[in-house]
Amino acid sequence: MYLILFGAPGVGKGTQAKLISAKYDIPQISTGDMLRAAVKDQTDLGKKAVKIMSRGELVPDDLILDLIRERFSQPDCDHGFILDGFPRTLAQAEGLDELVAEMNLPELRCIEIQVPDEKVIERLVNRRLCDNCGADYNMITNPPPADMKCTICGGNIYQRKDDNEETISNRLEVYTRQTAPVKEHYQKKGQFFSVDGQMPVEKVQEAIQAILNN
Ligand code: AMP
Repeated sequence: MYLILFGAPGVGKGTQAKLISAKYDIPQISTGDMLRAAVKDQTDLGKKAVKIMSRGELVPDDLILDLIRERFSQPDCDHGFILDGFPRTLAQAEGLDELVAEMNLPELRCIEIQVPDEKVIERLVNRRLCDNCGADYNMITNPPPADMKCTICGGNIYQRKDDNEETISNRLEVYTRQTAPVKEHYQKKGQFFSVDGQMPVEKVQEAIQAILNN
């Protein structure tokens, strides 16, 4: 299965990608996670990306496409993948089309998860994550334990540096300006579907599953 999960930051792409990844045994490819790992490891890419990410802007397309090309060449991508946070610009979508053609992959389906901006802001300012397994917490709806240790794996729970109000508002602007147009690209191909991301996680999963079964 070759799938793109599309939508603004904080709509639940990562959560849904993890569920699909476990069910179909295909990797979740999150460019955000890959970039954060590069920043942590202080690689050349990480050094170039760190400031851009802290402002909530987009890392240049050529760097992202290089990262994706390298990732697709790994053996765990042989039977499919779920893209989370990529493509984020029209140029990335076109670069992805070229890669798909070059690698003889089937047409990618694009599923958008829709959540209104005010809900996204509320989710992101309250979001906390495990630095080991990536589990999601929310200070209001799913608070972490007082010792800030993950209940699943014992990892440390932290808040992403870009999950502050100023950067969130810039990330949403960037989404509207640069990422939303990508939708039309997949609509034109007849490969675009939308689900309501305000439902509980299991219901969103069911809605995605219904699209995948078709
Ligand atoms: P995310 O974890 O998807 O919210 O991404 C966090 C940050 O990483 C974004 O705000 C961007 O700065 C950068 N980033 C992630 N994916 C991409 C991408 N496909 N293109 C450009 N920048 C990206």
